[in-house]
Amino acid sequence: MISIDDLVGNVSWSITQKFGKTSFSISHAGWYAYGIHYGLEWGTHPGLDIAIPVLTPLFSPVSGEVILSGGTSVFTNVVGGTDPQTGQLKIRTDDGSHVILGHMRRIDVKEGERVDQGQHVGLSGYNNGPHVHVEIRIPDASLDSGLRIVSPIGSILSENPISQPTRPRLFRVDADVLSVHDQPLMDIQSPGEYQRGEVIPCNTVALAQEVKPGERAWGQISGGDFAGKWVYLGFTTEVRPGDNGVQFYIVTANTKNIRISPDSSVPAVGVYTRGSILPIDEVVDGEVVDPGQRAWGKIAQGPFEGRWAYLGSQSTLKLT
Ligand SMILES: [Zn+2]
Repeated sequence: MISIDDLVGNVSWSITQKFGKTSFSISHAGWYAYGIHYGLEWGTHPGLDIAIPVLTPLFSPVSGEVILSGGTSVFTNVVGGTDPQTGQLKIRTDDGSHVILGHMRRIDVKEGERVDQGQHVGLSGYNNGPHVHVEIRIPDASLDSGLRIVSPIGSILSENPISQPTRPRLFRVDADVLSVHDQPLMDIQSPGEYQRGEVIPCNTVALAQEVKPGERAWGQISGGDFAGKWVYLGFTTEVRPGDNGVQFYIVTANTKNIRISPDSSVPAVGVYTRGSILPIDEVVDGEVVDPGQRAWGKIAQGPFEGRWAYLGSQSTLKLT
């Protein structure tokens, strides 16, 4: 059995809906009607909702075989919808139980694949709020479905619901000065600065930004004078020890490289200069664009159609 901290990689979390009958589940009973096929009473929330930032890396709570890897009309993610590799991850354990992680923005394991407890399986998403829905169904021959839904707490997740992040990531400031902000927005006034060589503990990233090797994002500072503030982590910033292979970067954008995929390791194929206007109609899976935030955008027209741009502080994003 693993802890919720282990499931969500030690980011801060809270339980926004418990398993069982809640005022919300009673008032939205139609959403949860499927539970009657798994031994639940009408109006029962069939899982555990754990609130975490969108795009939080998730780690399998059990060992078993992946029997569903997204593409269903239930437990969807609002961005991915019913796309494959998004939404519902279902793992079957050796004793025949089914474990579901719902509303995932990205699922990184495939059907038929064997996963180990603690293995990275993808990124969390958003559906009626940023959270992961955890559901467990154990064998029960007395039910037509052959499975009974039970509380994740006590069956696959340990009882202790206390969140205590214990492995903050540290990064070293290699820029001459790194500004610290109240929010992950460039236009928010900077309340302070770090100097080159300082070491900053950092254990979460901003809502709506995906972090994977070669990419960068806003990071929230977890200790020191600027705890709770945000830094945008630049090209010259190094992350360590990189628990999840995480790196960060900033786009300063006198020029903007155009790439053939949203991956910094792919060589640039062209450059736009400051002031260029790029038609953008789509952002990459796993990134949500809100006013003031940055993301990869897919170029819809012109000589770089189909290429990707990282939309920095000099970019204007038009969403239609
Ligand atoms: Zn739920």
